[in-house]
Amino acid sequence: MRRSARLFYSIFPKRVTLEPKIIQLLSDVYPTLDFKRIYFFNGMPWFMKHAFAVGITLPGTYNLSGINIYLDGCNQRSTEGLGLIVHELFHGLQYKELHGGYGIGFMRSFLVFYLTEYFILLKQNLKDHRFFNASKFAYDCHPMEMPAYQHEFEFKQRYEALGLEGMLANLPKTCVADQAGYQFQHSRLMLVPGTVITISFMLIKPIIELLLLLFVPVLWVFELPFNLFSKAKNES
Ligand SMILES: [Zn+2]
Repeated sequence: MRRSARLFYSIFPKRVTLEPKIIQLLSDVYPTLDFKRIYFFNGMPWFMKHAFAVGITLPGTYNLSGINIYLDGCNQRSTEGLGLIVHELFHGLQYKELHGGYGIGFMRSFLVFYLTEYFILLKQNLKDHRFFNASKFAYDCHPMEMPAYQHEFEFKQRYEALGLEGMLANLPKTCVADQAGYQFQHSRLMLVPGTVITISFMLIKPIIELLLLLFVPVLWVFELPFNLFSKAKNES
């Protein structure tokens, strides 16, 4: 893919439609989720390009209610692929339980609580570990990640054994999650840094995206002679 196209799709990754049967199964797994508000994309957003993550659930940048799930090349019928979707949708449930998942662009309660929990754990772990390991431990012990991984694990085990049709015919009760049940256990004052960062994201992200978007035609023009040359070479 050309650099200009790559840049464009890292700002606006391509939408992915899940198969009707997969949507049906996911609606059985998460009966309280509104799937009309959840959008799936192929590829990670530009600021996650070099992160280790293969999936992430983020608020819509330009709306008040959308929840975007970005997946890095996942096969929706495979155990791993569908397990990843189930994991990310568990975060969707957490979004819903924190002020309905509503907000302005990136400013959603989920992000504030998620970042706050991460910073608390990071600070604790930095006493004994270097930053990379402390950050990894903070992620592994994160109270919003642990139940998501637990649910993913439970789902994958059953899906592996029963397959898609078996799960649709008789979904094990342990695979159904109608609530995430997350509770914030610290002082509300600790939410201040997470709130400031989330508001900054909400304000800065659209500006950076506009600037990146302006680069797309610039790159396209620079690529033009090269593209014409390679086209002529292929035709000859
Ligand atoms: Zn997660």
